[in-house]
Amino acid sequence: MSSELSYVHPTANSPWGTYLSQVDRVVPYLGGLARWAETLKRPKRALIVDVPIEMDDGSIAHFEGYRVQHNMSRGPGKGGVRFHPDVTLEEVMALSAWMTVKTAAVNLPYGGAKGGIRVDPKKLSLKELEKVTRRYTSEIGIIIGPHTDIPAPDVNTNAQIMAWMMDTYSMNVGGTATGVVTGKPLHLGGSLGRVKATGRGVFVTGREAARRLGLDLRGARIAVQGFGNVGSVAAELFAEAGAKIVAVQDHTGTILNENGLDLAGLVPASRTPGGAVSFKGGDVVPNEQFWDVACDILIPAALEGQITAERAQKTKAKLVLEGANGPTVPTADDILAERGVLVVPDVICNAGGVTVSYFEWVQDFSSFFWDEDEINVRLDRIMMNALNNIWDTADKHKITLRTATYAVACERILMARQERGLYP
Ligand code: GLU
Repeated sequence: MSSELSYVHPTANSPWGTYLSQVDRVVPYLGGLARWAETLKRPKRALIVDVPIEMDDGSIAHFEGYRVQHNMSRGPGKGGVRFHPDVTLEEVMALSAWMTVKTAAVNLPYGGAKGGIRVDPKKLSLKELEKVTRRYTSEIGIIIGPHTDIPAPDVNTNAQIMAWMMDTYSMNVGGTATGVVTGKPLHLGGSLGRVKATGRGVFVTGREAARRLGLDLRGARIAVQGFGNVGSVAAELFAEAGAKIVAVQDHTGTILNENGLDLAGLVPASRTPGGAVSFKGGDVVPNEQFWDVACDILIPAALEGQITAERAQKTKAKLVLEGANGPTVPTADDILAERGVLVVPDVICNAGGVTVSYFEWVQDFSSFFWDEDEINVRLDRIMMNALNNIWDTADKHKITLRTATYAVACERILMARQERGLYP
């Protein structure tokens, strides 16, 4: 049976190509469930929408939007919405599939979905951004809902955008439906701890991986690519634990300081239009230098496909924590494994965000809100249990943590698929 789809043309290292090879690697560990594996190689549903808006100057602009529901065997679709000029259907498909694996890896009662608009939000005024968000929400309104598919923030989207999405969907259905999106502002049914949850999950899984490697976090040198919500929060938590952030790369460039960058100055500087390189407490160097900086831990927390074979060959890190989705291409994965570099894969490492999204959704339905301590304790427990279970699987089969995570997750997904049965 062929898993080639007529509507995308992945290459070996493109996002969907990367995902397909990750699935191929797990099939030998699925036993009788392997019969259902083809399910994982096809999204259940993919919607492409036109998003026309009137710009501030009176012209009409059209943007391409997507919502892909990869798999809903274990529950409603779940996954973020990305606003980026490079968004494509193929990318959103891969991101939706990684959500299926991620929600199953931490055992949340969800499937996987993802959305995106091919737009550079930095070029839009606030009013234009609101119009794009609302029209997109209305267009995908035919397939999202609190019990069907629940969007959330991702690259370049935030609580304000989630508030517009919640309002638009609510206006269309005629009643406030807070449970249709997560990552909302606190007073609109958002959850404490959601903003920091992804970075916190990277820290929790990274701390456990470091402990198992015998790598002391005190004095450990860390390089972080991407300094948004995920990278900067993880960096702060590692710094609090005694680590030194020796290199940071964002869309403006790369900054190094072997004695450790002062985050109290770097984080606010990175939020200005000048970005991380506007911070004066380090040396600005060419971007490629980021990849062979002397470090113990590498945290890719930006976009897909960043750790190429060449970069995997030269990294000095002993531990890679995938804060981003899909940052490592399959050939690089093999090189890291051969070189003895431990990779905590995206589908567990960055699952803290969707875990607290789940808490938010549960709180919205019960209209009863938890304090931050309760959220963090539950988050840590879910992440640690999931990681320990994955580690046992990796040890048992002598496979990488990525393949072990896929083994645990895909067994849950395909078991649900099998138990539900095919309709008709
Ligand atoms: N966009 C985040 C991710 O990639 C969070 C998704 C969510 O909270 O639904 O995991």
